[in-house]
Amino acid sequence: MDDLYRELILDHYKHPRNRGTLDPHDFSYEDENPLCGDKIRIDVRLDENQRVKEVAFLGKGCAISQASASMLTETIVGKTLDEIKQIGRDDILDMLGGISLGPTRIKCALLSLKVLKAGAYGLAGEHYREDE
Ligand code: ZN
Repeated sequence: MDDLYRELILDHYKHPRNRGTLDPHDFSYEDENPLCGDKIRIDVRLDENQRVKEVAFLGKGCAISQASASMLTETIVGKTLDEIKQIGRDDILDMLGGISLGPTRIKCALLSLKVLKAGAYGLAGEHYREDE
């Protein structure tokens, strides 16, 4: 892994962006990754155009899971729900610097996206199924 990205991940882990909760919110979801013990909750507030206005997350777990959540919250402000639904695993891995992760660590990296998408699909009255 590139040193720059390793530092970026550690920086987000130690100083998470958008940490907290939003009350009221338009949707909120939480899930966990039992393989590692990571937990993430994401609250989202939308503006009148149904774009993400504010987002906050709470979580605990390993550096990859928490840094990925922190980075993800920074990238989704201004996005529509459809745009959120189109974020894929490669986008998350790119965000983390294209690091190569084993199958267990991938689940850590993707937990925040899973939570965010489940919340977005839930708001639309749809059921989100994680593609494996
Ligand atoms: Zn983890």
